[in-house]
Amino acid sequence: MASLSDLPLRDDLKGAVPYGAPQDPVRYALNVNENTHPIPEAVARDIVEQLAFAVMGANRYPDREFTELRAAFAGYLGHGLGAENIWAANGSNEVIQHVLQAFGGPGRRVLGFPPTYSMHPIIAAGTGTEWVTAERDADYLISPETAVAAVERTDPDLVFLCSPNNPTGTPLPIETIEAVYAASRGIVFVDEAYAEFTPADLPSALSLLPGRERLVVSRTMSKAFAFAGVRVGYLAADPAVTDALRLVRLPYHLSALTQAAALAALRHAPEMLAMVDDIRGQRDRLLRELPALGYRAFDSWANFVLFDGVDDPAATFRALRERDILIRDVGLPGALRVTAGTEEETGYFLDALAQLGPGGAH
Ligand code: PMP
Repeated sequence: MASLSDLPLRDDLKGAVPYGAPQDPVRYALNVNENTHPIPEAVARDIVEQLAFAVMGANRYPDREFTELRAAFAGYLGHGLGAENIWAANGSNEVIQHVLQAFGGPGRRVLGFPPTYSMHPIIAAGTGTEWVTAERDADYLISPETAVAAVERTDPDLVFLCSPNNPTGTPLPIETIEAVYAASRGIVFVDEAYAEFTPADLPSALSLLPGRERLVVSRTMSKAFAFAGVRVGYLAADPAVTDALRLVRLPYHLSALTQAAALAALRHAPEMLAMVDDIRGQRDRLLRELPALGYRAFDSWANFVLFDGVDDPAATFRALRERDILIRDVGLPGALRVTAGTEEETGYFLDALAQLGPGGAH
């Protein structure tokens, strides 16, 4: 077998590292922020029925404009949005890729605030967009002043804001988004993958869309919606943005099966989202109980918690792995991230961590 260096790979991809969260078959998979609750059986049966109809018509290409799905997402999001405001793709990762293909690319740069979602720089690299970074404030917050100073220093073509942020769970004030938009000339991309886990009475960046044609807000069915395996993400923006994205998408990128499954799941949104309150409860339990075990847990509005005070994260990761638990070493000093699971899963994790002793030593 040849090695990468034998191939005429793009110079800017030489030495790059692919996304690689471990996918071990464990009993307690709490490492990639999925919804760990299975889809209710009655809903699953209805989805399968819709899939059967879609298969019967699968000799034809699917609706390239996924019109019905876009209308359904608009209905789900509310905020006066219509189908023309919505774009969708195979996971919000592909949505991000479309946006970078249309608005980034060689000679352009995207500003991000690490530690943040690890795919943001990887998709930037894949599309030849320069990834420039700025520091956060204490406790991973980003104040409007800090964000505006970063925009003024780097003059980016795009800004990525993750609200709440992965891997830290940190809330992002809506004022920061407004300030970044006002200070920048480029696309302001707000990644709201975990929006459904934030307090219900707080505004989403969706509320800022009217009159802001450079603002893009992305969501996913992979987290709260318990649909990670189907691969459906979407965004809301001015219709001119979706026009731009048509220039870079491949025709028929959303299969008839994906569209049918997503539509059926959206029709069952209340049942699909029924576990969100439970998951929030388990997240709040982690926020309470991790400090009781001697760790510092960072405030989280998502379905996971970052905690530090771990003496040797790699060793604690391995010790938990030996107990059939997978969490995430996100490369932050002394820190690990864990997804809020069911009550049983969360309890099993907390017990195992307690058994490891102070600082995760064992
Ligand atoms: N954005 C953020 C912040 C995420 O954490 C993730 C998944 N971990 C995604 C986007 C992508 O999710 P998907 O492609 O499954 O929609």
